[in-house]
Amino acid sequence: MAARYDLEGQLKKDIDAPVILFENVSKEYQQGTPALKNINIEIRKGEFVFIVGSSGSGKSTLIKLMLKEVKPTSGKIYVAGKQLSRLKRWNVSKYRRKLGVVFQDFRLLPDRTVFENVAFAQRVIETPTRKIQKDTPRMLALVGLSEKMKSYPKELSGGEQQRVALARALVNNPVILLADEPTGNLDPKNSWEIMRLLEEINRRGTTVVVVTHNREIVDEMQKRVITVRNGIIVSDQKGGYAYAKNQYSNI
Ligand code: ADP
Repeated sequence: MAARYDLEGQLKKDIDAPVILFENVSKEYQQGTPALKNINIEIRKGEFVFIVGSSGSGKSTLIKLMLKEVKPTSGKIYVAGKQLSRLKRWNVSKYRRKLGVVFQDFRLLPDRTVFENVAFAQRVIETPTRKIQKDTPRMLALVGLSEKMKSYPKELSGGEQQRVALARALVNNPVILLADEPTGNLDPKNSWEIMRLLEEINRRGTTVVVVTHNREIVDEMQKRVITVRNGIIVSDQKGGYAYAKNQYSNI
C-alpha cells in the first residue's frame, strides 16, 4: 500500500486512528470538586456524537480540554493526530485551526457584516483575498445566507446568527466541528435547522461533536450519545436520552 500522509506531510501510521482519544483523563480545578474522573472516549473520523448531561457534569470541561484551554490533571488526550500535552505553546493556535467551534451565544463581531465575520476567520490565517472571495460566499450559501452577506449580526434572527457562526467555523475546513449548546438560544424550528446543517456537514466528512441539553433533538436524531454525570461517563451508545434517563434520574 502506498504511504499515506496527513495535511502536514507526516506519515500516517494508522489511517483509522481515532480523531479524538481521551485516555484515563481526570481534571481537578484548583478549587472545588473533580470535574472529570478517569474519562475514556474514542471518537473516529466522520462520527456524529452528542455529549449530554446536567449542568456541572463536566461537558464544558471536555470541550475545553479538546481545545487545550485547560490541561488535564492526569491522562492523555489526542486530537486530530496530536497528543495535546506535547503540543508546544507556539503551536496551539495552529492546532486549534483544525477545530471549528460554535457556541450557544454565537460570538459574532457586532461591527462587521456577515461576509466579514466569515472572511475574518480566513484573514487571521492570511488566506489570499482571491480564496476568501470564493470560499466565504460558498460557505454562506451552504448555510442558506447568500442573501444576507451585507447584513450586520443585529439585523439577523438568532437562527441566522448561529448559521453565520457555523459558516465561520467551517470556512477553514476543520477536521472536527465542536458545538457547545448550539441550540441553547434558539426556538425549536431554528434548532432543527441548525441540527440539519450539522448533519449535512457531517455527511460531507467532518467529525461533529455536539454538547446539548436538547432531549427532543437527541432522541429524534438517534446518534451516538455520551452521557456525563458528576464527571463520569455513565453511558455511551447509539440512541437517545432514553437509556440514561431510565437508568439514572436527574440527568
Ligand atoms: P457542564 O459543562 O456540564 O455544566 P463544567 O465542565 O462546566 O460542567 O463543570 C464541571 C465541574 O467543574 C463543576 O463542578 C464546576 O463547578 C467545576 N468547574 C468548572 N470550571 C471551573 C473552574 N474554572 N474552576 C473551578 N471549578 C470549575
